[in-house]
Amino acid sequence: MARVFKLALSAGHWRGSPKGCPEYLDKEKTPEWVLNARICEKLQSLLSEYEGVEILRLDDRSGEKNISLDARSAAANAWGADLYLAVHHNGGVKGGKGGGIVAYVYTKPSEESLEWQKALYAAAIEATGLRGNRSNPVPKKNLHEVREPKCPAVLMECGFMDSATDCPIILTEDFADKMARAFCDVIVAKSGARKKARSVTLYRVQVGAFEKRENAKALLAQLNEAGFEGYIKADTE
Ligand SMILES: [Zn+2]
Repeated sequence: MARVFKLALSAGHWRGSPKGCPEYLDKEKTPEWVLNARICEKLQSLLSEYEGVEILRLDDRSGEKNISLDARSAAANAWGADLYLAVHHNGGVKGGKGGGIVAYVYTKPSEESLEWQKALYAAAIEATGLRGNRSNPVPKKNLHEVREPKCPAVLMECGFMDSATDCPIILTEDFADKMARAFCDVIVAKSGARKKARSVTLYRVQVGAFEKRENAKALLAQLNEAGFEGYIKADTE
């Protein structure tokens, strides 16, 4: 049995957090956690198609409970995570046009953290184009979620909620899909996770009497063509 890669996944904050999109850009004032959790849920769904990877969600998936950062990093460490991925959305440009995706690591990051940071940032930009105008989009910072984990840790700020450029983009389902796909691709590539074999149900199909065995051969040929080769065993003689 191959080793399982353990992903500790944290959607930053919680539904009741005051952080969110400002009303002048988003009438719904979407809370940051909602955007963070949407990407996390999509990532979990994508990774469920792979074996060799397990996920521990560190925030409360219902958004009702505020799980402290101490509790999150402690849970990831106790579990023996291989990667701590914190998903956030940024703020601070106050309605300006600036913004873009930022990927943080700790001030004294491990080589592995730096590799994850580089790969996750590159994939996110490739998928979304949300480059923005940060002078250094891959900075080092003393943040709890990149300092406390014993494993490699990256905090992704997936665009600015208060940027006139980013806000309309990051609110879209399409953006969340692309971010999740980018994260999934990097995790799969670096963890060695494998796509699960498609499960098949076995049926015995009777396609006709002995003199109709050409029907059985035709069915077999069609199934093989459709990609079921190797799964089908037919008695066509
Ligand atoms: Zn945040």
